[in-house]
Amino acid sequence: MNKRDYYEVLGVSRTATKEEIRKAYRKLAMQYHPDRNPGDKEAEEKFKEAAEAYEVLSDDNKRAKYDRFGHDGLHAQGFQGFSDINDIFSHFSDIFGGAFGGGGGSIFDEFFGQSSGGRTRSRHSARTGTPGSDLKIDLKLTLEEIASGTTKKVKIKRYNKCSVCNGTGAKSPNAFKTCSVCGGSGEVRQVSRSIFGQFVNISTCSNCNGTGKVISDPCPACNGDGRVYGEATIKIQVPAGVTEGSYMTIRGEGNAGKNGGEAGDVIVVFHELPHEYFLRDGDDVIYDLYLSFPEAALGTEVEVPTLKGKAKLKIAPGIQPGKLLKMRDKGIQHLQRHGAGDQLVRINIYVPKKLNSEEKELLKKLQKMPNIKVPS
Ligand SMILES: [Zn+2]
Ligand SMILES: [Zn+2]
Repeated sequence: MNKRDYYEVLGVSRTATKEEIRKAYRKLAMQYHPDRNPGDKEAEEKFKEAAEAYEVLSDDNKRAKYDRFGHDGLHAQGFQGFSDINDIFSHFSDIFGGAFGGGGGSIFDEFFGQSSGGRTRSRHSARTGTPGSDLKIDLKLTLEEIASGTTKKVKIKRYNKCSVCNGTGAKSPNAFKTCSVCGGSGEVRQVSRSIFGQFVNISTCSNCNGTGKVISDPCPACNGDGRVYGEATIKIQVPAGVTEGSYMTIRGEGNAGKNGGEAGDVIVVFHELPHEYFLRDGDDVIYDLYLSFPEAALGTEVEVPTLKGKAKLKIAPGIQPGKLLKMRDKGIQHLQRHGAGDQLVRINIYVPKKLNSEEKELLKKLQKMPNIKVPS
C-alpha cells in the first residue's frame, strides 16, 4: 500500500507550525466533508487521509516518530490510521476540543460556522441545570396608575434559588462526581448514515443535563434541587398607557431552574379597574358633567376631576347638552409615543325630580318668558 506523505497530503512544508497544520487540515476537512460530497467515495478517501495526516502531525510525539521513521515508525507503534469514517468523527471532538480551546464545539460549529457565534458561545454554561418555568400574574391597575405609569411591588409564590448551595444542589463544591452515562463530556454522540451522507447527532446527556457531573452529596436545604418553593417580592415597572389584557415580560423573575438552570420569566397581564368618574376611550377619558339649567344658560366656572387632581373649567353661557369640551393632554399618556390623550367633558343638564312650592312658582313664571320656550 502506497501511503502519501502526510506533509504532502496537507500541503504544508516539513517545518510547518502547528497552526499552519491546523489551518491546512481545516481547509481540507471542509472541502472533503461527507456532508458536502454525498456518495463521493473519492472525497471520503481524501477526508480520511487528511484526518490521518492531521492526527499524526498535530501530535508532537507522533510527528517526531514520523519524521524519523516514516509510516513504518507509526505502524510499529500500532497506529493504523482511520479505516472507518465514524472513528474520525468520534476522534474529532477530542482533537478540536483541545486544539481550539473551545468548550468542545462540534465539528459543525468549527468547520462550517453553522451555529451563529460558534466558538464564543459557551455551550457549557448554557446547558447547566434545567430551566425554570414562566409564571403568569394578573395585575389590576387604576386609570390613574395607567395614565402616568407606576411601579408596583408584588408578592408572588415561586421557586427561588436555594441560598444554601447557591442553586447548585450540592452540599459542597466538591460534592460532585463524573456522570457515568456520558463519562463527563456532557454529550451523547450518535453517528448515522442516510442517503444524504453521514450525520453526527450530538445531544445533551440527560443524566447530567450536559454538565458532565452529577451530585454525590445533595444539599440538605433543597434536597439537591438547587431551588426551594417560597415567596418573593418583585418590582413591576408599569409603563403609562397600557390597556386591558396587554402584558409585559419580566426576564428571569419566574421559577428558578433546577441545579442552577436559568430562571423563567414573569408574564404580567394588565387589567384596568373601572373608574368612578371616567370612561376610557383609547388614550382619551370621558367625563360626564351635570349642569343645572341656570348654570348652562348663564355660564359658569366649575371644578372637574381629572386623572391628576381637580381642574377648573369655564362653561360658556348657553352651552348645549351633549357638547364635548376638550381638556387637552389631561388624558392617558401614549404608550409608544410622546404626549397624552385628552379629557373630554360631556355636558349634561340636570333636571330636578322633586320641587317645593316656591320652586314650582318660580319655574311657572319662568316658562312664560320669551327666551325660555322651545322655539317652534
Ligand atoms: Zn440547596
Ligand atoms: Zn452525563
